[in-house]
This record gives sequence, structure tokens and C-alpha cells, in this order.
Amino acid sequence: MIEKRGIGVFPGVVTGHAAVFRHTILDNVEHALTENPEIELSIFENAVKSVLAEIHKIKPHSKEESDMLGIYEAMLSDPDYLALIQDNIKDRRYTASWAVEAATEKYVSALIALGDSYFAERITDIRDAEVRLLSAIAGISSDVIVDKPSVIVADYLTPSELMQMDRSNVLGLMLDTGGLTSHVAILAHSEEIPAILGLGDISSIVEDDAVVAMDGKEGLVIIDPDEKTIRSFRARKGIATRTEKELREGATLPAETLDGHRIHLMCNIEGLEGLDGALSSGAEGIGLFRTEFLALQNFGDEENKARIYEEVARRMGDSGPVTFRTYDLGGDKMADGMTAEENPILGWRAVRFCMERKDIFRKQLISILRASAVSPSVRLMFPMISGSEELLEVLAFLDEVKAECRADGIPFDENMKIGTMIETPSAAITTDILADYVDFMSIGTNDLIQYTIAVDRGNERIAHLYRPLHPAVLRLMKYVVDEAKKKGVTVSICGEMAGNAEYAPLLVGLGFDELSMTAHSVLEVRKRIRTLNAESCVDFADNVLSLRDATSIERALKDYNGKA
Ligand code: PEP
Ligand code: MG
Repeated sequence: MIEKRGIGVFPGVVTGHAAVFRHTILDNVEHALTENPEIELSIFENAVKSVLAEIHKIKPHSKEESDMLGIYEAMLSDPDYLALIQDNIKDRRYTASWAVEAATEKYVSALIALGDSYFAERITDIRDAEVRLLSAIAGISSDVIVDKPSVIVADYLTPSELMQMDRSNVLGLMLDTGGLTSHVAILAHSEEIPAILGLGDISSIVEDDAVVAMDGKEGLVIIDPDEKTIRSFRARKGIATRTEKELREGATLPAETLDGHRIHLMCNIEGLEGLDGALSSGAEGIGLFRTEFLALQNFGDEENKARIYEEVARRMGDSGPVTFRTYDLGGDKMADGMTAEENPILGWRAVRFCMERKDIFRKQLISILRASAVSPSVRLMFPMISGSEELLEVLAFLDEVKAECRADGIPFDENMKIGTMIETPSAAITTDILADYVDFMSIGTNDLIQYTIAVDRGNERIAHLYRPLHPAVLRLMKYVVDEAKKKGVTVSICGEMAGNAEYAPLLVGLGFDELSMTAHSVLEVRKRIRTLNAESCVDFADNVLSLRDATSIERALKDYNGKA
């Protein structure tokens, strides 16, 4: 029996069998020459056969999935691609895996050079096929197929890998890497999958099918638990289930402090799947629709995405705003056509990507504009804005697209509200300027914290330095809320800070009266708000702003939560 502790991302007590996935071998293709090209050729040919057999076993659930499988098949049957690999092995004496890697690079570059947008948009699928091939050469299955209820144990998972799993079989998630605000954590939270990240080496010490127990709230993992531990986890589960029931019973109550101050709680979603949870949590709108998650699943089919936007707008009805954030791709959300960068978090991300790929951006803006015709609650929000010039360029492009829609007779709401996220210190410090151009703002604390303190939000090694209560972060937040309000611009928070009930007294005290979070957090934060006194929160926040460091603020908040 081994005990490990990591970063608890979503609560839930689970005991089950592990399904272990590791990418490590695939990331380290050895650039070695072979003495036996014939053997490498046969390894390669068998790998192709086994991947094709794997693909034929998969039953696609949607048109997009069947398109994706079609791409795999076309690639693995393409005589030019196969010949490139065979020549690498025969003539250059590359090992099979190096030959595949080198040939795929060439293949991808050639497709990009062709300028064919259909193929350019499918580079992720091509890469996936490459991974399958490399896995087969290494003798491991690359399928992230979870065909029985399991606790997923992995070195890391990309958001799209998690999305491809049959989530009804995912009991829980344990990863070597990742922090509280990494995108795979956000996805686990909104899918309500008990999850623990930043566990270091869990994927190398847990054997496939081993029994594991986890408590997502505590960040506690037990590998090969004994009978006594299993019994104690059963008791934990009982308590967790009762707490959950209580929370759900509060879903219809207003999020109002004891002295009658109303806070608007909205939901963050990543797709249509999140909508039922949002509605049942009693959220008063969608404060953040992370549209890029749809793009990660399927970049090609815009019509499908437009239908999803319209469906969300229709189903939310007049429950509150529905805020579509334009694609925030890049960073840890790489899509087709994006190449690895030295420093992706500071790189080609969000509006920077969209303003260069206006073909993609235009299509998305049209889809959101179309949704605005369905309901006046639809709002549009831009991510990662770093200053007024960038904002004005993006707004000018939106105006261009609106003009095209008018010319083409595409109906949309001329009064659709436009907002910007405040995720960079430069945007926060220029709130007074940005506020002149938008109707609303939303602080993305996940990024604002990482950029203010210069701490990668997804890096578990420095997770202890990621301090939401750093005075610099709180001062920026206070500045944003005050300046936005002065200009009559509504301001909310949609980063993970909003969804942590422990921060509620501070956020209410700083003057935020709109918060957006996952459906589960709506339940928790509402419960906490109903125990608070807004006036006392304001005094508390004033006091906190005079403190000199994160430790003192964390202590003050702990004391406050202990008392009030
Ligand atoms: C944020 O940065 O706080 C935010 C809400 O955006 P994302 O987490 O998707 O980067
Ligand atoms: Mg962000």
C-alpha cells in the first residue's frame, strides 16, 4: 500500500481499477541508425497493419469522428507517405520510429505548402495517426479507449485526449503533472470527474489494473489499499455523498448575503454537455463559454458549431447572459495548424492566433453573430487582450464581419454586448482605457495570476508559487473593478478563483457582484454567500489590501472563514 498526495482538483471519493496511459516513449523518439533495415521494415509494416486494424475496430459516434478515422486511413494507405518511410529505412538506415517521425514532418510541411485548407485543418489528426504508428512500433497501444469503468492514471493528458474518452467510464483522474488551473483540470471540474493532478510519478508506479483509492477533495491517493483502507474510503464516500445532496438542495435559493446583497452566479461551460449542469445549478447565465474546446474536438465543421451556439442561446432563454468567448487557442490548447513554440504561454495564443487566421476567426464570429439572432442574451468576449490597440483591431474586424453579414442577409443582434477579458497585467492596468470600448469585462484570474507573478499555471513544480492572494493580484483586481464600475462597465470574474467558496468573502468585499464558475462551484459558492454579510466583507477586503504578502492574506482569509 502506497500513499501519495497531489493537487485535488475535483472532489469525490473513488475506489477502482487503474487504466494507465503514458506518452513518454512517444515524446522521445531515438534518432538512431539501424544495422538491420529489413527488421525495421517489417516492424514498420506490422505497425501499419496493427494501426489499421485498431482503426477498423473503432465505431465512430459522430460524423467528425468518422472523418477523423478517414484521415488516419487515408494517410496510412497513402503510397507517397509509406514510400517516404520505407526509403528512410532502406536508404538512410533510420530506425522505424525515426523514419516515421522524419517522414511525417515532411508530409505535414508538404500539406501546409499546398495551401489546401481542408488538409491544413486536419494536421492534428495526422499527428494523432503518427502517435498511433509510433506506439505500435514501440509495442504499446495508443488508444485512449476506456472500455470499462476505470480510474485514469497518466503522465499527462491533453484536454482533447480527455474529451475523446468515453467519460461514462472515467471514474477518476490521477496525473503526474498539471496544476489547479491547467485546462485539463478545468475540464475535469466541469465534467465533475474526481481528479488529482501534480502527483509526480504516479503513472510509473501504478500498474495497469491495480486497485487505487482517491479522495479528490483532499488530493489523497492510495495505491493497492488494504481492506481497512477500503472500508475507510467507503465511509469517506458516504460523507461526500451527503454533502453533495445538501449542496444540490440549495440550487433554487438566491445567492444573497445575509444583509440582502445579491451576487449573480453564472456558469463556465466548454460545450453543450455542460448546459444541463449549468441549468440545474440555478446559474443565472453563462459567464464563459470556452469555445476553443469545440474547436479542439473538430475544427472543420463550422456549421455544427454554429448549431451548438444557437442551441445554448435558445436553451438558456432569459436565464441570463450567454457569453461566447472567441477561440483561446494556443498555450496548452494546441489546434490544427499550430506548431510547438519555445514559450507558448507568451506566444501565438487567442486573439493573436485569430487575427492571423482570419479565415477561422471570421467563421467563428459569423456563427456567434447568428446565435445572437436567437436570443438577446448572447454576448461576445475576446480573450487575452493586452491593450487598447489590440482590442480596437479586433473590434474593427468584428465590424467588418458584421458588414459582411448585413450584405449577405445574415440576421444578428445589432446591439449584442461586447466584452473583453482581463487576463494580462497590461489589460488590468489599462482598464480605464479599455472600458471605453466595451460593454462588459471579465477577469480571467487563471491567466492574470500566471502573468502577474510569472508562474506557469500548469507547472506542478512551481504550483506553490501560484498565489491567487498575492497582493499584486488583489491590487490589480481591485483596480479593475473600481475603474470598470466608474465607467459603468459591468465586471465579473470567470477564472477558477471565482469558483472557490473560500475566496467568496474577499471577492464580495472587493466589489465583485458577478462571478462565473463550473456548475458544481455555483452550488458551493452560493451556499457560502448565503452565510456572509456584505458590509463586513468590504471591511475585511479593505484590511486585506493593506497586508504586505500572500501568507498574511491567506492567514487573514482563513481566520475570516473560520469565524464568519
Ligand atoms: C482565465 O484565464 O482565468 C480564464 C478564465 O481563461 P482560461 O482558463 O480558459 O485561460
Ligand atoms: Mg485565460
